Amino acid sequence: MIQSSSTLAPAPARGTTAERAAHVLRHAVRGGALGPGEPVAGFIDTAGVRDSVSALHEAFGDVPDVLHTFAAKAASLIPVLRLLAASGMGCEVASPGELRIALDAGFAPGTIVFDSPAKTREELRQALSLGVAVNADSLDELRRIDELRAPDSASVLGLRVNPQVGTGSIGAMSTATATSKFGVALRDPGAREAVVRAFAERPWLTRLHAHVGSQGCPLELIAAGIAETYELAEEINATLGTRRITSIDIGGGLPVNFAGDEVAPTYADYVATLRAAVPGLFDGRYALVTEFGRSLLAKNGFIAALVEYTKDAGGRRIAITHAGAQVATRTVLMPDAWPLRIGAYGPAGDPKDGPRLAQDVAGPCCFAGDVVAHARELPELAEGDIVVLHDTGAYYFSTPWAYNSLPYPAVHGFTVTADGEVRLSEVRPAQTLDEIAAASGLAQADALTDQLATAF
Ligand SMILES: *Cc1c(COP(=O)(O)O)cnc(C)c1O
Repeated sequence: MIQSSSTLAPAPARGTTAERAAHVLRHAVRGGALGPGEPVAGFIDTAGVRDSVSALHEAFGDVPDVLHTFAAKAASLIPVLRLLAASGMGCEVASPGELRIALDAGFAPGTIVFDSPAKTREELRQALSLGVAVNADSLDELRRIDELRAPDSASVLGLRVNPQVGTGSIGAMSTATATSKFGVALRDPGAREAVVRAFAERPWLTRLHAHVGSQGCPLELIAAGIAETYELAEEINATLGTRRITSIDIGGGLPVNFAGDEVAPTYADYVATLRAAVPGLFDGRYALVTEFGRSLLAKNGFIAALVEYTKDAGGRRIAITHAGAQVATRTVLMPDAWPLRIGAYGPAGDPKDGPRLAQDVAGPCCFAGDVVAHARELPELAEGDIVVLHDTGAYYFSTPWAYNSLPYPAVHGFTVTADGEVRLSEVRPAQTLDEIAAASGLAQADALTDQLATAF
């Protein structure tokens, strides 16, 4: 059911992404949230998140029964999840850690959906006893649920299918390929019949789930996958002669525009595409569940990092910054698939201008490929300047990589009032050296020397 998000204050007029970042940077530098002791940090536009949630709710406003869940992996930070819960969302989780932080954030179990291809018996038991919805990833997992499910479990139970509609532009982000590891591959010989049988045998199985893909999948491809899923629901209900399938979980995967300020495609574009491809999905016979992640958070966050040094190598100018693969893992490892807009700011947070120069924007990690932008035309960067990696509110600073024992950075939420006043709230402190040592086995420091000393 849609809950009102009107209890959260409305947003003032908003400038461009670059202007907003400048406001926030000036404030962060003055207050010490960004500086020599904190050379990289993540920032989340709190009102922006709320507005994105509103746009999602509005786009599906005509659907009588819809639960919008947020894919926790896209921004696995409890304050972010709590903001989303307060905005009327549920939560999609795919690990015990995500389930834990979703519960800590305050999501009611009935608004949580558990998807994972590797759920253990213990994880299933916990989800079923809490009343969390579970989408089984395979027929084998359904057989486990047969054994574990108490008759009075409040969990809504579904089955994930892979409509095998094909691949988007980023292979690793396409979940509906012929050989994807997710869901029951519907077009494989005998699979469809086996799925219908699985529903016939299990009166408690009431949901179909498909998540067709993420960044790089055209809307038409996603819609084609959902159309296949809808057709299957119709077939199952017709075969069983009853409205057994009462809800369809259409997943997430709305792509994000990483090239400019514009939000494109919008949730409204997506709903229009879906309506054209699957008109019956919206007529109220099925409750809907969505699982958007990136499209809710990406454009509502950025990374800011200090330039520590600049150098020239082989005719190329290189800015060595504190933002590299530890916070922009996908962009560094797959630069062509995940390009980011980079902003150049002075030490006080003012936008830099001046002639553009092709520069590599590199990170602190000790491998040669740790570059977030190659030969990017930017105003000439100098020591003490700040670079901003735009559109990184999802899957970037919230999903750090522990390479080189680099700490995960602090994250701050911000609001900017109409007259430019900035407020920052700490969402997550930077990881300390003590925490890095603890996570690196400090308490087990003697484990291996002792083992050798006592083994022979
Ligand atoms: C990752 C994931 C999502 C969210 O995808 P986005 O591209 O971030 O919207 C939704 N559902 C499932 C099952 C996922 O694995």
